[in-house]
Amino acid sequence: MIKKFLKRVFTRKAKVKTVGNAKVIPFALHGVPREQISYGARRVTDGLQAAGFKAYVVGGAVRDLLLSKTPKDFDVTTDATPEEIKRVFRRSRIIGRRFRLVHVMFGEELVEVSTFRCMMEEAQTDEHGRLLRDNEFGDMEQDAARRDFTANALFYDPATQEIFDYHRGYADIREGVLRIIGDPEVRYREDPVRMLRAVRLSAKLGITLDDATAAPIGRLKSLLDNVPDARMLDEVLKMLLSGHSVACVQALHKMELHHGLLPLLDVIMEQPMGEKFVMLALKNTDERIRQDKSVSPAFLFAALLWHEVLNSWNALVKQGERPVGAMHTAMDDVLARQKKKLAIPHRHDAVMKEIWLLQQRFEQRAGQRPYRLLEQPRFRAGFDFLLLRCASNEVDNELGLWWDEFQEANEARRAEMLQPEGLTGAKKRRRKPRRKPDGEPTQ
Ligand code: ATP
Ligand code: MG
Repeated sequence: MIKKFLKRVFTRKAKVKTVGNAKVIPFALHGVPREQISYGARRVTDGLQAAGFKAYVVGGAVRDLLLSKTPKDFDVTTDATPEEIKRVFRRSRIIGRRFRLVHVMFGEELVEVSTFRCMMEEAQTDEHGRLLRDNEFGDMEQDAARRDFTANALFYDPATQEIFDYHRGYADIREGVLRIIGDPEVRYREDPVRMLRAVRLSAKLGITLDDATAAPIGRLKSLLDNVPDARMLDEVLKMLLSGHSVACVQALHKMELHHGLLPLLDVIMEQPMGEKFVMLALKNTDERIRQDKSVSPAFLFAALLWHEVLNSWNALVKQGERPVGAMHTAMDDVLARQKKKLAIPHRHDAVMKEIWLLQQRFEQRAGQRPYRLLEQPRFRAGFDFLLLRCASNEVDNELGLWWDEFQEANEARRAEMLQPEGLTGAKKRRRKPRRKPDGEPTQ
């Protein structure tokens, strides 16, 4: 009797309700408990709801939890305006001018809260259909419709543990499909970056891009030319730092999105000599991210451009320039050339140069020079870079092993390890500049 009753309650709970145009998926079906929502995001939804507003966790976090992945951050969306949100939370501030969002702080955690938005009736677009503004407030259903993929348009209510789904996103996630909302071509024209998001998210989440979502990408890829450089760089960085950069780059290749898409990616994929090095650098970055270690964009940029620097350097040395001077010229040339097309921010220049310059100094293993190198603040990054060069067979493994041992060795062993003065020293080179074989910065 009790069993029967419980079963009835359970099956009733597990049923999907319909509220307006939304399917409401109960906890009994989706299984994501409110405890999996971050403390800050729960405080925000609780606070807004207590003040009489609607509030949900939305977007990537709900998607990731349904896929049993750890969300990067938790975004909240609400029918409260930015001013109303700000009034509810003491430690909050309104940010952005076009898209006004509110940042709410709970200790270390920052929760981004946005007001429901809609696609405007008479949206302003450029001649290719690209949306120039979409900052009109709207209701929850409109907010779902303006999002990119069905899996990204799910609203989770921590109070009831229900998920509101307007576009079959729950079913798509369960089937492992990434599907764009609405007509794919129109949505890509509105915002071409969605094509890159499609590639990145499917690679990162290990889910399949729906056929109709993938189909127009090849044809429409030139629309990416109209996207401002800074936004492209943002998206490319997201790919490179997603922890799945190798999968992303392979997917871009498969969709033929790499060629001419962005010079930064061309650099990665169209240099036969450097391809092994670059793919190793990406693999290494992916591993570091998965282990929660820090990665620096400057290190990654330095890796992407290394073989260009090396080529320029070799050419200059062949023309008779001295190695160290040639390295400075090569670095400046490559940075100046790339700057025009890559939009790599200037603030990374110094670190990139330091990492490159250290590479020459690793070759010098006599006298005081190795000791001085160890004290360089950028030693660790330079050494990691050296190991990638060894792993890609650009330099002899012996050099990496030597430095690995030298770092850990005691004083006596270090003294033993030093090479005789003059063998690799800069002084000798200065007296008699040597022509270098291709591919080697110094010897
Ligand atoms: P990630 O795991 O990389 O953070 P995400 O889906 O959360 O993935 P965000 O850039 O944080 O990506 O965006 C948050 C949400 O905003 C998305 O889930 C999606 O609903 C919406 N969104 C982001 N970019 C777009 C876009 N270009 N067009 C439409 N909706 C978008
Ligand atoms: Mg996100």
